Amino acid sequence: EPGGPAPRRVLLKLSGEALAGGGGVGIDPAELSRLAGEIAAVARLGAQVGVVVGGGNLLRGAGLEAAGLAAAGVDRVTGDHMGMLATVMNALAMRAALRRHGVEGRVLSALQVEHLTEPASPDRALRHLAKGRVVFFAAGTGNPFFTTDSAAALRAIEISAGLLLKATKVDGVYSDDPVRNPQARRYERLGFDEALERRLGVMDLTAMELCRQHGMPVRVFDVTVPGNLERVMRGEPLGTLVE
Ligand code: UDP
Repeated sequence: EPGGPAPRRVLLKLSGEALAGGGGVGIDPAELSRLAGEIAAVARLGAQVGVVVGGGNLLRGAGLEAAGLAAAGVDRVTGDHMGMLATVMNALAMRAALRRHGVEGRVLSALQVEHLTEPASPDRALRHLAKGRVVFFAAGTGNPFFTTDSAAALRAIEISAGLLLKATKVDGVYSDDPVRNPQARRYERLGFDEALERRLGVMDLTAMELCRQHGMPVRVFDVTVPGNLERVMRGEPLGTLVE
């Protein structure tokens, strides 16, 4: 891995926030187009790219609960269902933007949305990937109380990706919060055990535990820097490799 190109098949985890640009909410047209362009570029290099998209830019189940909607009957489970549908909306936008860049995509949803998406199945995903289509996995795991990070771990393992790329807005995993602690240092490599033990904010614990159990390496990198996705795919050791 160090120096060598990234594996041919990868799973990219893109949070909803990444689509929102600076504002944090909604879909920013410039960011949507830039990210789609970057995904199109790596697909053109011959990489098989699966993408798990989050939904936090539109809606979070826990956020609804916190906003007091539970009192009106919109409980956490309903909120999570809504959150999963938010990821479907993001995936549809991503696929459309990708097409604008000349690359085909398919949306596979863990919840049945039959007019707009296809059912999520590993075989179906692999068939699309083999044809050069980018596969957007939507609706997370299909279950409340999970996150799209866990869905990313699950899908990466299901399609036997060589690497899970966790796109963030920081350039890797730090020993402490680099904003509050100037002594904090960035890891170039990090073991799952240490990441779990020290609760270093890579992904949630369920996602991390799945990756650890199945030996799925995770590269945490800064997707807000234009060109970084392609750099990672070309083998540049950006960010932090957790393995
Ligand atoms: N969600 C869920 N089950 C899943 C994945 C997501 O219920 O398997 C819901 C949950 O409400 C979550 C929302 O969808 O808050 C959006 O997902 P997430 O917060 O993971 O998005 P991200 O932070 O990546 O934008």
